[in-house]
Amino acid sequence: MSTETITTDTDIIVIGSGIGGLSAAALLGYYGFRVVVCESHTIPGGAAHGFERDGYQFDSGPSLYSGLSAPSPNPLRQVLDIIGVELPCVNYDTWGCFVPEGYFPASVGAEQFCQVLRDLRGETAVEEWQNLQAMMAPFSQASVAIPPAALRWDLGAIRTIMPFLGNLAKHAVNVSKLTGAFAPLLRGVVQDEFIYNWLNLLCFLLSGLPATDTSAAEVAFMFADWYKPGVKLDYPLGGSAALVDALVQGLRKHGGKLYLNAHVEQILVKNKRASGVKLRNGMEINAKKAVISNASIWDTLKLIPDGAISPQYRRQREATPECDSFMHLHLGIDAQGLPADLACHYIFVEDWNLGITTPQNVVVLSIPSTLDPSLAPPGKHVIHAYTPGNEPYHLWSGMKRHTPAYQQQKQARSEVMWKAIAKIIPDIQQRTEVSLVGTPLTHARFLRRHRGSYGPAISAQTGLFPTGKTPYGVYSVVVIPLSPVSVYQQ
Ligand SMILES: Cc1cc2nc3c(=O)[nH]c(=O)nc-3n(C[C@H](O)[C@H](O)[C@H](O)COP(=O)(O)OP(=O)(O)OC[C@H]3O[C@@H](n4cnc5c(N)ncnc54)[C@H](O)[C@@H]3O)c2cc1C
Repeated sequence: MSTETITTDTDIIVIGSGIGGLSAAALLGYYGFRVVVCESHTIPGGAAHGFERDGYQFDSGPSLYSGLSAPSPNPLRQVLDIIGVELPCVNYDTWGCFVPEGYFPASVGAEQFCQVLRDLRGETAVEEWQNLQAMMAPFSQASVAIPPAALRWDLGAIRTIMPFLGNLAKHAVNVSKLTGAFAPLLRGVVQDEFIYNWLNLLCFLLSGLPATDTSAAEVAFMFADWYKPGVKLDYPLGGSAALVDALVQGLRKHGGKLYLNAHVEQILVKNKRASGVKLRNGMEINAKKAVISNASIWDTLKLIPDGAISPQYRRQREATPECDSFMHLHLGIDAQGLPADLACHYIFVEDWNLGITTPQNVVVLSIPSTLDPSLAPPGKHVIHAYTPGNEPYHLWSGMKRHTPAYQQQKQARSEVMWKAIAKIIPDIQQRTEVSLVGTPLTHARFLRRHRGSYGPAISAQTGLFPTGKTPYGVYSVVVIPLSPVSVYQQ
């Protein structure tokens, strides 16, 4: 075991190479800081990493993206533009939806959804949808009034915001309304239960929380992105791994380094500031300016030595409520004879009345090889189904992998995903050539995530993502494209 100390000229160490960590690291490199990223896994990307099995390229997590293929308010696109890397994407606009009312193809775009409503609910629902669009328009404009890349939380914010003041002033009233939950805004104009259920579902997919707890700002941003004329969805050619590769390229282009298989065991604290990290192999790396943690708040707290933060602060942050975890089903299948018009994405809702967060009630499915055939061998498809952030960890906690009980539970709780896939590919079992079931334990293990959680479940009724001061520096949470990134600096 090495006990080497690297006292190189590193300015900033980033713990974790998720999309958040890589974005922060590449940007800091671009701005002239000497950055090192320490990633625990052997593959970069965190929840968005890609992996290969028998010629199939799997997305471990995300595959639904928008605002990536052209300049847009999407913060990730803004990062890619700043660091100067390309991310070729294929465009599409429709996903398939199986809901209790029946099947419909959902196209992004406000107008397209009118036809779905007309068919399923009638003209009153269409009118309510149009009223909702009109009500949301100023909120959506407010949500993109300042480019996310310009957001910051120190005094420099005043200078940064100056160029956008005129734009911001126009939206001042709306900005204040965006700090609460979306449900009250929605209920103000929508009586139709299907529209409510639909948006409740979108909120859940967006934030892991229902509309009663999802931030109105987050939804307004989605409206700005998904309901603009001519909108398209994007799938990066090569899958989420290509997005991660682009960020790694950007990091290296600006002098940054990425260490894989470099699990950080402790954040070193000297003179009341984060001064470096100690890896599991005993190596210590010093950082002249800051240590940034891309790990979740619960995982980050485990790295901070006792005494560096007050017990009260630790308890408070440990008590951050958490979203549930996931069941995953990754399949490689024979695609011979399947319809050529399979969609890349499908969503399945069993019963609206059970509540959108109820375990096993919602399944999400991706078949990205429909858009990028290079992800599977010729004549095959790659499939990822999952139950999105609604699998309770406690059902799995303490179970031992490779035991019959674990295998049985895996089989029982993956059944819902097989059934969902069979709605579009009835002979899915016979076609399957590679089959991998993931549980919350898998999620926690490969994504290095506390209890396999989707992330913090902070209700917009009670607060924003946590920010605050530690005894040795500023701690803040920056929401970048998909989820929070914790920032520790001196
Ligand atoms: C199944 C699934 C589907 C999703 N689908 C979508 C989607 O379609 N569209 C979308 O926009 N979003 C989606 N998301 C959300 C999105 O993937 C995440 O929000 C995003 O990838 C999180 O990035 P992050 O950088 O914040 O964190 P993470 O990806 O969790 O990165 C944290 C990194 O830190 C590393 N780490 C942790 N502890 C240590 C340590 N001690 N030492 C070193 N490294 C450490 C981890 O290994 C990991 O690489 C999905 C998520 C999941 C799980």
